[in-house]
Amino acid sequence: MKIHIVGIGNGLTSEHYNTSFIVELDRSILVDCPQGLFRALAKMYIDKQCINDVIITHIHGDHTAGFESLLLWKKYIEQRKINLYTTKKIFNLLKNYWFKAMDRTYSSGFKGFIKFKFTDWVTFYELKVGHPRMIGNLKVEIRNSFHYTPTIGLKFIDTETGKTFAYSGDTIYRRKLIDDWYRRKKISKRDRDDCLGFLWDADLILHDAENIRDGVHTFVGELEKLPEKIRKKILLVHVSDNMKSEIIPIAEEGKTYEI
Ligand SMILES: [Zn+2]
Repeated sequence: MKIHIVGIGNGLTSEHYNTSFIVELDRSILVDCPQGLFRALAKMYIDKQCINDVIITHIHGDHTAGFESLLLWKKYIEQRKINLYTTKKIFNLLKNYWFKAMDRTYSSGFKGFIKFKFTDWVTFYELKVGHPRMIGNLKVEIRNSFHYTPTIGLKFIDTETGKTFAYSGDTIYRRKLIDDWYRRKKISKRDRDDCLGFLWDADLILHDAENIRDGVHTFVGELEKLPEKIRKKILLVHVSDNMKSEIIPIAEEGKTYEI
């Protein structure tokens, strides 16, 4: 399995593309669509014609700003739809809010409007916690991450080799806080356990990180405290321009990792 890193930056970066990557086995699955997606792909010599499967982890702009261009390209240049994989909740947020800017165009002669449904542009495949789904030859599992809009973390398993790649999604990883939310019944036991453990058995892990202790992402110091055998499988993403860690490397934009 190959993981091509499209972007590693957070939503405020001036030096990187926003966090996104392509998981390649028999298909090329794009995870999230940052602004400048086409330029990033061109720099990596990746033909956008090979991307027909997209996972959206949540609706924040740094993860969806390039989705509109991709849908327009597929519909008007390639005459096809994107296969969109996400949860029902995130799909509905995309459909009811994000899609509003592109739900119509002028009819011929500018006499009125042609209206579109979201499903004129995408074929939706539901991802569900506890229900793995095959995308080509990859088994995809999800968890709910700890973010303030519905957000998923992901695991990709090559069922032939057992090799597994995981992505945290935008999330806080802070044991005390997650336990506290569980005690106050704000999250389920399943979500607590997944927030604390879902990722760590993977062979390669991309993890959200920032250098702010009490921010809404994962403080890098929390990841640095993990046991070495987990820590050495992690690469940091969703980073600020001044992110530094002496212990855990930052994923390299434009690079391909193979497991
Ligand atoms: Zn976010």
